[in-house]
Amino acid sequence: MRRTSRRLADGREIIYFDDTPGTPERVAVDTRDLPEQAPHSEVRRDPLTNEWVGIAAHRQTRTYKPPADLCPLCPSSPGRPTEVPESSYDVVVFENRFPSFAESVPDVPSTVDGMPMVARAPGRGRCEVVCFTSDHNSSFGALTPHRVRTVVDVWADRTEAFAKLPGVEQVFPFENRGEEIGVTLSHPHGQIYGYPFVTPKTSRMLEVAGQYLAAHGTHVLGDVLAAERAAGSRVVASSDHWTAFVPSAARWPVEVHVVPHRQVPDLPALSEVERDDFAVIYLEVLRRLDGLYNKPLPYIAAWHQAPVRTGRDLAWLHLEVFSVLRTADKLKYLAGSESGMAVWINDTAPEQVAERLRAI
Ligand SMILES: [Zn+2]
Repeated sequence: MRRTSRRLADGREIIYFDDTPGTPERVAVDTRDLPEQAPHSEVRRDPLTNEWVGIAAHRQTRTYKPPADLCPLCPSSPGRPTEVPESSYDVVVFENRFPSFAESVPDVPSTVDGMPMVARAPGRGRCEVVCFTSDHNSSFGALTPHRVRTVVDVWADRTEAFAKLPGVEQVFPFENRGEEIGVTLSHPHGQIYGYPFVTPKTSRMLEVAGQYLAAHGTHVLGDVLAAERAAGSRVVASSDHWTAFVPSAARWPVEVHVVPHRQVPDLPALSEVERDDFAVIYLEVLRRLDGLYNKPLPYIAAWHQAPVRTGRDLAWLHLEVFSVLRTADKLKYLAGSESGMAVWINDTAPEQVAERLRAI
């Protein structure tokens, strides 16, 4: 894989990851007259829960569902410059033009209105867009295993690079797919967030893993993995190095966790063979998910990685894929119980979902 770092007209970094032999050098210049962005995001800590919230009011003006011929993620063509100056690409990554977190945000006072219980900090981090293919009408599930392997290497590269940035505490690669999820651009792409704090979900999982380790001497996810593989009723796919299963207490109407058999903290720690094997099992999972309602399933795919500086021996890398679609045409809304109390009520039985996914 060849890696080429360039700059866009407003100074943002763009990195081409080429996996096709003989690809010409990436030298195209961004000809657009782009104003430099001055993101003003900040984070504030909710004094009642100690959870950080990002406040990025500048994002309200971002691009919303442009027509396909104006897609900013397609390669550039004569007279039609996009976010990617080249006329084609394999996988490309660039800094988000409307980031939730950025390295350049200005300092802010350390509290909100002098209230000592409400901590406040600059939203200092990084947000990148990852385009999986230059083909506007493709999807992650339609990629070749070779290309998925490239994407895994890109996620690992970016995780290592983000971890070196001052202030980044956790790196989160994810994909939102489908209008039902609120995706504003249909071009196959994901994002990577570098947060200036450890996320609430990860903090909680590390706390639980620590308690479980103290009580049992083993890792909770390792024990779950062994038990799911033994029971088999919720397993959707498995390979030498990974198992995909519907979690026994699934929150979402469709939810699959893809877990490596070896405890590793993050994507960079995966071996070559584990990366190759992930490409095969994940494509199988996506094929089954799209077969569930015989239409492209809207989903969120979320990588759980160890924080950059803490809990690295307790974390266990895994991918959680889930959908808001509870039937072919009905959405699960996060209503009172979910939004108000963070208590999920799932209308589908995990075992039945797994059985249906296995039959596809
Ligand atoms: Zn496009």
